[in-house]
Amino acid sequence: MAEQAPSQALVGDELLERLKAEFEGQPYRGPRVGVDPVNLPMIRHFVDAVGDRNPAYVDERFASASRFGGIVSPPAMLQVWTMPGLVDPDDPNDRQPALLDMLDEAGYTSVVATNSEQEYARYLRPGDVVTFQSHVESIVGPKQTALGEGYFITTLEESLDQDGEVVGTTRFRILKFRPGAADASGDGQGNTSQRPRPSINQDNAYFWEGVEAGELRIQRCTQCRRLRHPGQPACRECGSFDWDWIVAAGTGTVYSFVVHHHPPLPGFEPPFVVGLVELEEGARVVAEIVGVEGAEVEVGMPVRLTFTAIDDELTVPQWVPA
Ligand code: ZN
Repeated sequence: MAEQAPSQALVGDELLERLKAEFEGQPYRGPRVGVDPVNLPMIRHFVDAVGDRNPAYVDERFASASRFGGIVSPPAMLQVWTMPGLVDPDDPNDRQPALLDMLDEAGYTSVVATNSEQEYARYLRPGDVVTFQSHVESIVGPKQTALGEGYFITTLEESLDQDGEVVGTTRFRILKFRPGAADASGDGQGNTSQRPRPSINQDNAYFWEGVEAGELRIQRCTQCRRLRHPGQPACRECGSFDWDWIVAAGTGTVYSFVVHHHPPLPGFEPPFVVGLVELEEGARVVAEIVGVEGAEVEVGMPVRLTFTAIDDELTVPQWVPA
């Protein structure tokens, strides 16, 4: 049952218009200057916590002799330098509570992060002073999603240095939705099931473009030639960021599998078989095995690839007994 929204709350396009007028293109959070400049002790704690052993971050002698010419901060620490901490949670420049409150009041009380894309313009060095600011790039909705009706809010967060130059950006998108209000029969605009949609980003677009072309694409490190799946930004073996992909022949064997009975999942009819299939080429891929009862699936069973249209919008790779 959907929660009853207060009667004075805005809904639908009227709500969207109000959200756009008050927030779209406007400053959202910040500007907020980092409490401490970029510094070695914080870098040391960070790399220790995440287990990053790159000496360019902590070893002055190594860093000086490297192409960096001195200590640099790990790019992934970008947001750390401007975190507000717990001392003063009431930031008058922070308009996030106002935007979220407006959606809460209209019944869109749940939130899920859907995208986060970071770009780094340069390495930060000890002594740099970082300022954070963000604005609302776009608000889209109301949209029917597998989670329920909601609005997508995209913000662009910028980190600036002491000269006002952008050193990195984060494009962050959330879905603020009305929980439990998903339409079991689809969105009324054609044959659309409740099967979750893939979240396509720059790291996995090659894979879904492959599916569209009827190809199972497997990422390959161009340095050490290792295959990997699902796609990742860097090679686990040699650390290289350079990759291409191969088209798998579409044959393999069942390496492992489960028969899913419970809990119920939107868009899936239990029981169904989820297989970990070892490709002839070597990499392993998780996908549904269809056309066979769960009790008949065996480890080592040969399978072949097929592409199944789940509905008008979604096609997925699956496996059938060879
Ligand atoms: Zn590699």
